[in-house]
Amino acid sequence: MDGARVGVDLGGTSAKVGLVRDGQLERRAQVPNPHDFDACVRSIASATREVCDGATPGFVGIGLPGVIDGAQRVILDAPNLPFLVGRDLAEAMERALVTEVRLENDANVAALGEARHGAGKEHPDFLLATLGTGIGGGIMFGGELWRGPGGMAGEFGHIRVGHDRRCGCGGTGCLEAIASALAMERLGAETFGESIPLAILAERARGATPDARAREVFRLAGEALGEALATVALLLDLRVFLFGGGGAPVLDLLEPHALTVLDRRAFGRSAADFRLLRASLGNDAGVLGAAML
Ligand SMILES: [Zn+2]
Repeated sequence: MDGARVGVDLGGTSAKVGLVRDGQLERRAQVPNPHDFDACVRSIASATREVCDGATPGFVGIGLPGVIDGAQRVILDAPNLPFLVGRDLAEAMERALVTEVRLENDANVAALGEARHGAGKEHPDFLLATLGTGIGGGIMFGGELWRGPGGMAGEFGHIRVGHDRRCGCGGTGCLEAIASALAMERLGAETFGESIPLAILAERARGATPDARAREVFRLAGEALGEALATVALLLDLRVFLFGGGGAPVLDLLEPHALTVLDRRAFGRSAADFRLLRASLGNDAGVLGAAML
């Protein structure tokens, strides 16, 4: 198939599969993630055949929430997809589809998608952070994805920001444990004594008469985010930060606090030097980015 590639966004509950040509998503399919290695391979392979109408794509790129080895083949760690750990998913998919398969961490894939087709288009250098159940990160340098020699660059969510909450990684004080979409909801639940969806919490914090307790949740998360961004800025001199995932819609509430910290902490730079932007591809970023691998 001329120039056609398949992008797969493999998530905890489903896999989105899309046929991409010249950066356009031409056909798409969605299949459940069966949480079993062989069934998962069969399921993605059959969705791939469906979107390709039986033809063979140039390659298949798969983005998933996990750490992939430097050769982009074996999954080293995937807390939400444990059945994949230690398995050569690329090899199994290649056998099923008889075409080249490349794997990549989902936040890296999203960064690539935004760089080529979304909010990162005008910015050769940026960090994309996905605020979801956890916090993922992908770094673009000079228009290229920076994976690091072991494929593990961009673990933005596990930068320590100075609090005493436990993180899913086993550590304490990670950004993810206070500023992921889930962590912000947890902070809200602790504050109000009931679980409140993030969008409702945000409404309470905005409004004509904003709720001070709801605003406090976003102040805590926003300042922590600023600390982590300042660390990135100090180390890499990145100035553009993109945000995707379920937490991106509340960026307006986090941004002023993050910028205040950046202004104070990022030596030699001021708040005006930084741009915090929402990612623009939404649910398609994973599929489009995976087709760019
Ligand atoms: Zn952590």
